[in-house]
Amino acid sequence: METHDKQPGFSTRAVHESCGFSGSTGAVMPPVFLTSTFASGNPDGFDYTRSGNPNFRLLERSAASLEGGQYATCFASGVSAITAVLSTLKQGDLVLAEENLYGCTYRLLERVMAKFGIQTRYVDMARTEHWGIIKRLRPALVWLESPTNPLLKIVDIAGVSAVAREAEVPVVVDNTFASPYLQRPLELGATLSLSSTTKYINGHSDSLGGVVVTNEAGWQEKMIFAQKALGLQPGPFDAWLTARGQRTLALRMERHCATALELARWLETHPKVKLVRYPFLPSHPQYDLARRQMRGGSGMVTFELNSSVEQALAFCRKLKYITLAESLGGVESLICHPATMTHASVPAEVRRQVGIGDGLLRLSVGLEDLEDLRADLECALGALQP
Ligand SMILES: *Cc1c(COP(=O)(O)O)cnc(C)c1O
Repeated sequence: METHDKQPGFSTRAVHESCGFSGSTGAVMPPVFLTSTFASGNPDGFDYTRSGNPNFRLLERSAASLEGGQYATCFASGVSAITAVLSTLKQGDLVLAEENLYGCTYRLLERVMAKFGIQTRYVDMARTEHWGIIKRLRPALVWLESPTNPLLKIVDIAGVSAVAREAEVPVVVDNTFASPYLQRPLELGATLSLSSTTKYINGHSDSLGGVVVTNEAGWQEKMIFAQKALGLQPGPFDAWLTARGQRTLALRMERHCATALELARWLETHPKVKLVRYPFLPSHPQYDLARRQMRGGSGMVTFELNSSVEQALAFCRKLKYITLAESLGGVESLICHPATMTHASVPAEVRRQVGIGDGLLRLSVGLEDLEDLRADLECALGALQP
């Protein structure tokens, strides 16, 4: 006899758990609830959109399910989600962060949180000998990303989480670069999994958003409080767009991964390319860990040309289908020159020290045909002055 006790698969949950609130209309997709307030005493318990809206609830239910967590809270952007988590700290608290952090996270820690007496220490979490610092310093939070931006370093989430758990230190993982289809930090032992849904989860570069998922009721209470008390909520239409994008996450990630792997392999053989970093290339220093921790290598490929800043930018401008722009994870391919864009504020010496050279480029592989992207890159590489 057939039973339906088993948890449905990722894509089934992505499609079905973000639907509802259609009332008696039979609409298979949810409406957008463009309302600021709700009549008091309604059976669904809504009161004011800053603290909840049917579109948030649908997105939160499906996002939690896809991350393998119990609770989720949605926010206006990834940075809003980061703000929500950091707002739980108090004066004198210490954050222990991976040294390779998303630029806006670093800026929030250094230019905002520091003013309120919250200090951050940065360490290379890819080196297991650094994990002992967690036990020694007992920070209020451990903050990490994997893969990191732009060098796609992989941090052992299960390893760090196990050490932190012993020290009773919560671990936040920024899961934006992987997406819950490829990596689920809560299942690896993290306390919070945070994403900028602006990237892969929405996937269409048409709205900003953020989400924090957890299994701990206490943390969920803090996130709901931050959403409301700090005014970090998204607009209902943005939440609707994000839920809409999320329904096709698995399909998109499969294609992002497949095309990115092919391009990474091909770039690695090109004489004008000095270095290629992609988590699922055997040449990646943490290839085995990446294979263990992630279901696919994701859609980001970082490579380095033997070139000056000007030559690297000229290369980018020559591309036809790949647009020179910040951001990632959308249907369209984008290329970014970290030294003059995302990491421009980092002093040149520090940049070089961490491996962000003048010719380094970060490619967000979109959903175009592989042949067209390869031809585009090949043509621009051909035009590159030696
Ligand atoms: C983009 C990004 C963020 C910030 O998200 P926004 O939606 O732009 O506010 C945070 N972390 C990572 C890793 C990102 O790539």
